[in-house]
Amino acid sequence: MNRIALLSQRLANQIAAGEVVERPASVVKELLENSVDAGAVRIDVEVEQGGSKLIRIRDDGQGINKEDLALALSRHATSKIADLDDLENIASLGFRGEALASISSVSRLLLASRSADAVDSGGWQVEAAGQEMTPTLAPAAHPQGTTVEVRDLFFNTPARKKFLRTENTEFGRIDEVVKRLALSRFELGFSLRHNQRTVHQLQPAQSIQEKQRRIGLVCGPAFLEHAVYIDIEASGLRLWGWVCLPTFSRSQPDLQYFYVNGRVIRDKLVSHAVKQAYRDVLFHGRHPAFVLYLELQPALVDVNVHPTKHEVRFRDQRLVHDFLFRSLHKALADVRPADHMESPS
Ligand code: ADP
Ligand code: MG
Repeated sequence: MNRIALLSQRLANQIAAGEVVERPASVVKELLENSVDAGAVRIDVEVEQGGSKLIRIRDDGQGINKEDLALALSRHATSKIADLDDLENIASLGFRGEALASISSVSRLLLASRSADAVDSGGWQVEAAGQEMTPTLAPAAHPQGTTVEVRDLFFNTPARKKFLRTENTEFGRIDEVVKRLALSRFELGFSLRHNQRTVHQLQPAQSIQEKQRRIGLVCGPAFLEHAVYIDIEASGLRLWGWVCLPTFSRSQPDLQYFYVNGRVIRDKLVSHAVKQAYRDVLFHGRHPAFVLYLELQPALVDVNVHPTKHEVRFRDQRLVHDFLFRSLHKALADVRPADHMESPS
């Protein structure tokens, strides 16, 4: 008698969805990353009811071929890596080939696309709703690029749906995801609408002034007033971005954006280095505000640590820590004399 059986594909996807798709914001994150990987220049995000009713993301990227559309929804299907070498030099945001499979197993998903290659075959779409994992292909009117529509998230997994917070809280998370990405891809235009209302409308930014303008729109004018722009390079590492002087701090660590090679990360080593740099200039319990970009050779950092990819592992932890600490410490020390001169007035 057999007591061991292979999980059905649907069940395996739903289990995987538990890891990747925690809430509407995780769906938005995965879909936005796909649009970025597809080389989109403009991405429009529309959500209803905090994303639990509808998430629609449209991009003008390279699109998906008709032949690939259904495959895009299966697990471990990806166009981004083919072998272990690719994995070690990963340049795209996605690579696990899991997001669309997971999301479509816990929602009603519509994927419509028109590939840059498909000059005259037009657009195509596939739909998948939770259980039914055999998506049907149909022609669709669509400009070049891709639209993913995710309706009724967790409609077939009520236990997960119960964990969703209020509409505002869930939307706040989505907003944060969009902001994080908008700060990592200045060259892309973004829009975000919630319940038919425009929340962000960000034009592509090229010059430093335009980037600074986006920083102001996303982080608020006070952030900009107190921030200095830095750009430091040493031992193959580059750190650039905006750090706020101690004249602007927060009671929560809510204005801290840190990117490694264009990828948003949350990392203990990074937090520690930043904290040390600010240690002597901030009151206990206050948190610094910054938007920082660390750039290094992809081979010197492992991004394949966690499914949501928020963590990274640096090959040379000490080098990175010291570089961050020294760069920030110096940036803060450099501006302090000027500060002193201004403050007595
Ligand atoms: P991954 O991003 O890890 O490859 P996904 O499940 O997120 O896995 O997507 C599967 C595949 O579908 C991608 O590798 C890509 O080829 C295609 N795809 C998904 N979204 C888009 C998009 N917006 N534009 C073009 N291709 C897409
Ligand atoms: Mg992806």
